[in-house]
Amino acid sequence: MTTRRTFIQILPMAGALALTARGALAADAAALDPKDPQAAALGYVADATKADKAKFPKYAAGQNCASCQLFQGKAGDAAGPCPIFAGKKVSAKGWCSAYAKKA
Ligand code: SF4
Repeated sequence: MTTRRTFIQILPMAGALALTARGALAADAAALDPKDPQAAALGYVADATKADKAKFPKYAAGQNCASCQLFQGKAGDAAGPCPIFAGKKVSAKGWCSAYAKKA
């Protein structure tokens, strides 16, 4: 039987675990899957050289996430967040049709 006292003892522990899990997720976001429906719609590829040039003629050689204005990783990071794909990390060598050259 769960007494009120037991419940009160368990509650802070559960909260701490939830916070830890959330922190781990934020720090270690999963890599964006190119097959994700939104990624596919925007032509995201983890390797920019594999961009579908027929479907996305705006792609130009040399473009990649690392040189995109929206890339939020630090210089030299292999992957980083992108606001277009919230909660996921895009490859620095990736590309999608929302590419906007860094100023
Ligand atoms: Fe990469 Fe830019 Fe597309 Fe984000 S918007 S996936 S950083 S090319």
